[in-house]
Parts: sequence; C-alpha cells; structure tokens
Amino acid sequence: MSITRRTLVATAAAAPPLLAIGGCHAAPTVDPLVVDDKSGLNATRTSRNLVMEPSSTPLEAQFKAALREAGGRPVCFAGARHSMGGQSLPPSQGVAAATATAACRIDRERRTYIAPAGAIWEDVIRALDPVGGSPTVTQSNNDFTIGGTLSVNAHGWSVPHAPAGGTARGLRVLLADGEVVSCSATENPELFSACLGGYGLFGALIEAELEFVENSLLERNQVVLQAREFGARFVQAVHAPAARMAYGRLSLARSAFLTEAILVTYAKAAKQPQTLPPATGSLVHQGVSKRLFRGQTGSDAGKRLRWWAETQLSQGSAQPVSRNSLINTSVRSFADQDPGSTDILHEYFVPPEALEDFLREARRLIPASAQDLLNVTLRWVEADRYSLLPFAPAPRIALSCCSPSRRRRRPRPTCAP
Ligand SMILES: Cc1cc2nc3c(=O)[nH]c(=O)nc-3n(C[C@H](O)[C@H](O)[C@H](O)COP(=O)(O)OP(=O)(O)OC[C@H]3O[C@@H](n4cnc5c(N)ncnc54)[C@H](O)[C@@H]3O)c2cc1C
Repeated sequence: MSITRRTLVATAAAAPPLLAIGGCHAAPTVDPLVVDDKSGLNATRTSRNLVMEPSSTPLEAQFKAALREAGGRPVCFAGARHSMGGQSLPPSQGVAAATATAACRIDRERRTYIAPAGAIWEDVIRALDPVGGSPTVTQSNNDFTIGGTLSVNAHGWSVPHAPAGGTARGLRVLLADGEVVSCSATENPELFSACLGGYGLFGALIEAELEFVENSLLERNQVVLQAREFGARFVQAVHAPAARMAYGRLSLARSAFLTEAILVTYAKAAKQPQTLPPATGSLVHQGVSKRLFRGQTGSDAGKRLRWWAETQLSQGSAQPVSRNSLINTSVRSFADQDPGSTDILHEYFVPPEALEDFLREARRLIPASAQDLLNVTLRWVEADRYSLLPFAPAPRIALSCCSPSRRRRRPRPTCAP
C-alpha cells in the first residue's frame, strides 16, 4: 500500500501536540486513570489507561485492540515515558496506551534484529550480547523503549553516527484508521521518514528492524582541555578510524564554569579476547558516582568535588570494557530518590564551529539566573538524512543539560474527571 502526503498530514493532525526530552523519576500517581511522565510534572486524567502485556496475544492484535477501544477518542502510544512535556500522554479524556517490554528476534546474516516497540535497550543488549552484537545507536541509558527512541529519533554517543533512525531498516506501523503497514527507505518511504522523529503523530510503531554492530573490547582515553578548543578537537576525535564512542563534559564549578572540558573517547582495543565478558552494566559504580552527582545540587563545593573526581580520578580507570557493558547503564545510577524533586533534561544542538559562541552566551546568562545545572554532557550527532523533520540537518554537538526542579508531592489531575 502506498501512503500519500495527504494521508500523513491528516493522521498527524488527528494526534496530540508535542515537545522535547525528559527527566528521570518515577511518577507517583494514585488514580489509575491519571497518567504522568517520569518528570511527575504532567499528570493528566485519561478515559482509559491501557498497558500492553508481553503475552500470547500477538502484539499487532493488542495495538489494534487499543485503537478499537479508543472508539475515535485520541489515543497516545507511549514507551517508558521518559520524555516530558506531555507528548507521551493523551490530551484530557483521551486513551493512554503503554507498550511493554518484550523479546527481540536476531537475523545474523542481515546483521539486524527485530525489536517490538516496547522492548528497552536492556532487552536488546541481553539478546545481542551472546551473539557478539551490539545496538548501533542508543541513548546514554538503557531504560528507553525502541518505540520511544525512534519516535523522538534519539541520538547516541557511538561515533560517528546520525540519530537512531539512521539504523532502522524497516518499521511496522499502525495507522489511525486501523490499517497496519510496513515502511522502509524503499517501501512507503514518506511514512518511514515521518515516523522517525514523528512522536507517534503518524501512527503507532509496532516493531522495528534495526542494524547492529560488532561488540568489542574498548579502551578509554581522556583529555582535559579548554572548552573553547572542544569543538575542533571533538570533530577530529569522532572521525578517528579507531574511535567507537565519545563524549565530552563541561565544568560547572563557579571558578571554571563552562570553560574547562574533558573529552573522553573509547577506541577498539588492539588485543581482543576470544570471548568477551558478558555485558554487566555500570551499576557497580553506582555508590560513588551517584553520591557525587547528587551532592552537586545547589552546592558549588559539590560541583568542584565532582569536577575534581571527573578530571583526576577517572584518569586511572582505564580497564578495557566491552561496548555492551558501556551502554548498559540505567538512569537509576544517578536518579534522585527525593519525591519532591525531579531532574529535567534539556538539550541544545549546536554546529561544532559555533560551540564557543553558544558557551560564551551561556556563561553570561546562566549564573545570573536561578538555573542550577548538575550536568552538561557533549555528544556528537552526524547529519540526519533520514527523517522528515531532522534536529541535526548538518553535524551537531548535542549539549545535554540536567537541572533539578521541585515538584508537587501529590500531582493533581490537570482536568476534571
Ligand atoms: C536520563 C535521560 C537520558 C537521556 N539521554 C538521551 C540521549 O543520550 N540521547 C537522546 O537523544 N535522548 C536522550 N534522552 C531522551 C530520550 O531519548 C527520550 O525521552 C526517549 O523518547 C525516551 O524513550 P521512552 O521509551 O521513555 O519514550 P516515551 O517518553 O514513552 O515516548 C516518547 C515519544 O514517542 C512516542 N511513542 C512512544 N512509543 C511509541 C510507539 N510505539 N509508537 C508511536 N509513538 C510512540 C510517544 O507518544 C512520545 O511522543 C534522555 C532522557 C533521559 C530522561
């Protein structure tokens, strides 16, 4: 079946509006019809709150049943609801449908796997690790669903890669009229590019076929440098032939606010073992890093201590690590347990050559505001030539910022029952 531009636009117009990224907190809700995202700031009363189960009922049938149950009311499909701003929630009195985590199918010959929309990266890594594979592009954490990742067209920190949509070979999509269609770069290409970064506005993703790369042992290298040098050094580092993963970080201590940086790269180790150790995840370091991270809240001493640890202590931790262990980190490793506060993530996509201009303004504006930053991580995003609405039409440095925010202890519904 071919999809026309008019069908796409009509489908999109029937769906709720959206914004950008997320926090990392479990949202307490009391009324089962009140749904929220992980920020806990967007409580919304729905008329139905469905959770799809990984059960014997095929996923496609469950997706269709959700749409039937909505009976014409707006329905919003969600994954792990880490995006905030309300886009993973239906408008009031709409129907909320959350996808559940489920198993992946691997095709070794094509070097791809088919993942149900509700699978999270942890599931994918668990499936690929024993066959020596690793997902090509994932976010910094393993808690996000495939449906949510492709719908926001998330970027990762493996280099040099465009956002995750660039690794999709095909999608199965439920349209608003109940029809299920396949799409790829060659089959229904317009729907394909609209769904990658389409926030669910063009249909619900049932499953996706995604490429994987080789899992290998990686060696870490870290340099401390002036932030004004970072843009040019990052461009070089991410395009080095051995580079596999890379990120940067900026100092938030008052004395070096956004002027000092670290650049961390992981390259394929020259010596690879016969068999790689199973992916562990980095929760083993939870105790130290979480306390350092949370200790920065509202504290310049905390920010200085974190920067000292990041620039001095991390230098020594050069044990090679498998790619899968590196990307298998949960948001739990740094989440705040205080029910009265939440972390808000905001992200800016800046051309590498304009990074210093951006930072100059940030240095001027942020200290004078009430903004308390806990983190600024820098990641590389190669130009996105796949999605209809790219956030990186040319190479970008993504500045991923995290700020703590207070929230009500008991969120109220935003509309009357
Ligand atoms: C701690 C943290 C770290 C992050 N790191 C990164 C990062 O490194 N890189 C990055 O790019 N982003 C990052 N993000 C943002 C993250 O990628 C997005 O929030 C992502 O959407 C989360 O996935 P999710 O499963 O929670 O999606 P949700 O929040 O549940 O959904 C996101 C959007 O996708 C839609 N959707 C979900 N499932 C489907 C489906 N099956 N069919 C159709 N539409 C669907 C929803 O309606 C919504 O509009 C981070 C967020 C947090 C909180």
